Amino acid sequence: MFKQFYDEKSSTLTYLIADMTSKQAVLIDPVNENIDAYLEIVNSNHLTLVYSLETHVHADHITGGGKLKSMTTAKTGVSRACGAETADIQLEDNDVITFGHEKITVISTPGHTAGSLSFLWQDRLFTGDSLLINGCGRTDFQGGDAGELYDCITGKLFTLPDETLVYPGHDYNGRRVSAIGQEKGINPRLANKSRAEFIDIMANLNLPKPKLIDIAVPANRRCGTPEPQQG
Ligand code: FE
Repeated sequence: MFKQFYDEKSSTLTYLIADMTSKQAVLIDPVNENIDAYLEIVNSNHLTLVYSLETHVHADHITGGGKLKSMTTAKTGVSRACGAETADIQLEDNDVITFGHEKITVISTPGHTAGSLSFLWQDRLFTGDSLLINGCGRTDFQGGDAGELYDCITGKLFTLPDETLVYPGHDYNGRRVSAIGQEKGINPRLANKSRAEFIDIMANLNLPKPKLIDIAVPANRRCGTPEPQQG
């Protein structure tokens, strides 16, 4: 079973994958405010949530990982490079996450943030903000690095079969899925661009700072749980 959710406020895309034999399920990039919608699908299909995974520490919304951990049997998983010490699992490149008969392979794709990951399940790639449809995540904060992003997109993601479906962490234009072949061919930041050209494009985007960054980044380092009380 596969389901995509969309959060209107932050344009975040969240994914639920379930193995219907064992009924074990995984969520990728859950949003704090949409937990009820996820749990409705989980419960009505008699699924057991085993993992809540993050592609990275988000700057634009608060993760639902902490809430899911307290309400369900889900374990939270974030890249070791994210500095999210409260996560149950510190993910690394090439780790394999199994649930029932299914498996997800972790691909480290730093550049948008130092701890950005992509997840490969069957012929579907969940790219977070590393590779977006016709774009890519910005590289100007949270340990971002345009050169690193170019290297992992062209050296890792673009070596997957062209038919591999690309499910990004966001889309602001109503698109929901792409494919590796399509992004290789027409992504304006990457198609036929050299590393130097890509770095130049990324250095000149002049994007405003995300509205929620000062709240969301510290909260997401704690997997979305409230700040501990002082004293
Ligand atoms: Fe992001």
